[in-house]
Amino acid sequence: MAEIIDGKRISQQIKDELKEKAAALKAKGKTGALAVIQVGADPASCVYVRNKKNACAYIGIESLAYELPEETTEEKLLELIAELNGRQEVKGILVQLPLPQHICEDKIIQAISPDKDVDGFHPQSVGAMTIGAPGFLPCTPAGIIQLLKRSGVEIAGKHCVIIGRSNIVGKPMALLMLRENATVTVAHSKTRNLAKLCRQADILIVAIGKPQFIGAEYIKEGAVVIDVGIHRNENNKLCGDVKFEEAKQAASAITPVPGGVGPMTIAMLMSNCVQSIEEG
Ligand code: NAD
Repeated sequence: MAEIIDGKRISQQIKDELKEKAAALKAKGKTGALAVIQVGADPASCVYVRNKKNACAYIGIESLAYELPEETTEEKLLELIAELNGRQEVKGILVQLPLPQHICEDKIIQAISPDKDVDGFHPQSVGAMTIGAPGFLPCTPAGIIQLLKRSGVEIAGKHCVIIGRSNIVGKPMALLMLRENATVTVAHSKTRNLAKLCRQADILIVAIGKPQFIGAEYIKEGAVVIDVGIHRNENNKLCGDVKFEEAKQAASAITPVPGGVGPMTIAMLMSNCVQSIEEG
């Protein structure tokens, strides 16, 4: 039976460390705010934005909320980002995704100054991560590295299979696992014999975006399973991409949903904000 990797506990530990660090920086006169921009009122986005503001309050960082109407133009949003880029006290800018259809996400991401890009999505941040140069790391994959390390999972030399190749999870995850000296395989929607490939993984990271897709037949006995997926099932309860109950019989360690990867994403966002205040 698998050990349950407690993302709630580990994220709390990180937030407490950050709270202390933010207080120490404040004592040296180093402060700053995170600007959180939301366009429209998508219910899931509202929850994420609220959690981010609460995390800022907990750590002792100011947050500036910009709740813009759904019909906000791309031009207006670009103007706001330009203004925030120029404000010295703003150390981080976060635009909650997804944006309404009429706004080009890439254009918005690229408008954020890389030294305030606490989501780590700007091409400059992505490039820096790729070559191992300093910069902000994307929060979800960086959070997974912390989960593994703080749970005592050895990464170096292990075979890590990542299912999913999105820009925000799968691809950066592969780069960060490579940086930790894992041998990395990235699987995606065109991969053949997915179950056979996954059964070769010592560490299986699932970011497929399909509720309860991965069952025991994908998991090698004793593997570590990280479930990135977040969905609501037919009973409106949160679930992941992995069939948790059967996967935990085969795995040696596994993240639950909720309480696994999710809380780590916010903790790492806070970590990027504190880093930005420290560097700024
Ligand atoms: P996405 O839809 O952009 O990417 C899914 C990936 O899975 C794609 O690269 C695709 O090639 C692959 N895929 C789809 N069907 C497949 C199949 N049958 N076989 C193999 N590969 C297949 O999703 P994303 O943005 O990477 O997010 C993935 C999941 O993680 C979603 O459920 C999302 O809600 C969740 N998520 C959670 C957090 C968090 O903080 N916990 C953060 C980001 C995303």
